[in-house]
Amino acid sequence: MVNVNDKTLPRFKVIIDYERCIRCGRCVKNCTYGAIVFDKKKETVGKDGNEKKKGKDKKEKPEPVVKNTGNCVACQRCVTFCPKDAIEIVPYPVAFSPHATWTPYHLRSIMEQARTGNVLLAGNGNDRPYPMVFDYLVWDACQVTNPSIDALREPIETRTYIGRKPKNLAVVEKGGKFELDEMAPNIATSMPLIIGHMSLGSLSYNAITSMYRAVKEVDTMMGTGEGGLHKDHYQYKDHLIGEIASGRFGIDTDYLGLSAIEIKIGQGAKPGHGGQLPGEKVTELISETRMIPLGTDALSPNPQHDIYSIEDLKTLIAALHEATEYRVPIGVKIAAVNNVAAIASGIVRANADFMTIDGFRGGTGAAPRVVRDNAGIPIELAIASVDQHLRDERIRHKVTIIAGGGLRSSADLIKIIALGADVGMVGTAPLIALGCKVCQQCPTGKCSWGIATGSPELGNRIDVDWGTRRVANMLRAWNADLEEVLGTMGIDAVESFVGNRDRLRYIGPNPVEGEILGVKHAGERIGRGGE
Ligand code: SF4
Ligand code: SF4
Repeated sequence: MVNVNDKTLPRFKVIIDYERCIRCGRCVKNCTYGAIVFDKKKETVGKDGNEKKKGKDKKEKPEPVVKNTGNCVACQRCVTFCPKDAIEIVPYPVAFSPHATWTPYHLRSIMEQARTGNVLLAGNGNDRPYPMVFDYLVWDACQVTNPSIDALREPIETRTYIGRKPKNLAVVEKGGKFELDEMAPNIATSMPLIIGHMSLGSLSYNAITSMYRAVKEVDTMMGTGEGGLHKDHYQYKDHLIGEIASGRFGIDTDYLGLSAIEIKIGQGAKPGHGGQLPGEKVTELISETRMIPLGTDALSPNPQHDIYSIEDLKTLIAALHEATEYRVPIGVKIAAVNNVAAIASGIVRANADFMTIDGFRGGTGAAPRVVRDNAGIPIELAIASVDQHLRDERIRHKVTIIAGGGLRSSADLIKIIALGADVGMVGTAPLIALGCKVCQQCPTGKCSWGIATGSPELGNRIDVDWGTRRVANMLRAWNADLEEVLGTMGIDAVESFVGNRDRLRYIGPNPVEGEILGVKHAGERIGRGGE
């Protein structure tokens, strides 16, 4: 007897319009979740509804049929590829009895855990409808008293340097020539926008290659993630930041020759949590890249086992500076958590050249949903707090701050820079440029768009030239937006905009939030109180 409680209730309904359908079968081929299949029975029935003689009526094509609408994850792959716009994906009309406490989110979670007894895994970022601080911020524009700049006709400087900055610049004489005194290593990018760490294994070879090529094309950076770097990808090394995570995968002397090295302590999507790539996903490509035996589990423990204090962190940063002969900046990546400002101060004092702070909306290939949806703090509040704290301690100038975890648009990038970040970091946005529909099924490895999958067959769904163009276009467009906006504010170099919170105004409901952001409320006068 079937236990009715074991049935997973569908979330989406797939509707095929057979009047429009030409039986091309593209939907069947493209649906990796088994929601649409060919109807074997109907293969024997012609368009006129009469029985076909098997094997004779060769012109009749098999009919697509919705086998299991409960498998549909609304990835929109079938809709995109249907040449006749014959498919519709709509929310499945399951009406739960209305209850403000027991929402569909909670009901479905309990039903799923009662069915499986497992931790629920999810991909992408936190999907809870928490207030979006970015949406409570608006920026300023020049009117009358200072002129705006026409970004189409006048230069706006967006070149950005990642690395430790000197307090003063000194000119020294060397062999009869004058030159700048030795500076800590910095890497230059054409824009204050980079792609964050994503590893081969969590993403397909073609998805990763498209993004590496795109950052090279627009002259910015991308993180390798914790999975090492495949030998084919060393040609992009001048545009890559190598990650050293707790699993220490794929690290050798070549890897230390990348543009920058970053120690991963935490990730916004799963603060305090490591990761695991199950053995079946450790294919030849992954085993070669991560330098681990074929088919073994790739475990990244929650902590870095040699870092239990700021002193330990300082020792590892010093070791990496030595190992890289002080040629590249060394950074530290942390998740945005409650005491992020104090931790950031420790990181600067441990001699990091840059730090990445990843907010609680950051994406992931797989995280326990309970962690993804409830741990950490929004990046907007974290960055404002860190920037102010480091300024108060007079050490802000020493470090480059990279901020990510929920940047959805160029507007968010502009706001996070004004709140104190030198560089914005994106992960989900370039995946969306590659076709991702944020269906959150990344841990299944069945990604119909060929992005979050280890399957070479699915990965080949991405044409690398097309993918490169899409990602490069997105990066360029965001930077062009930034230039436009800086122009409207009369600012000709993004450097002057970093932490310039006076150019933002708060329009949200919570005065404490505005205070933490260090942003005046809209309408509040400058110089209020007779200053
Ligand atoms: S939207 Fe995606 S999962 Fe749903 S039927 Fe279409 S291809 Fe399959
Ligand atoms: S892709 Fe569209 S036209 Fe082709 S079989 Fe599916 S529903 Fe019919």
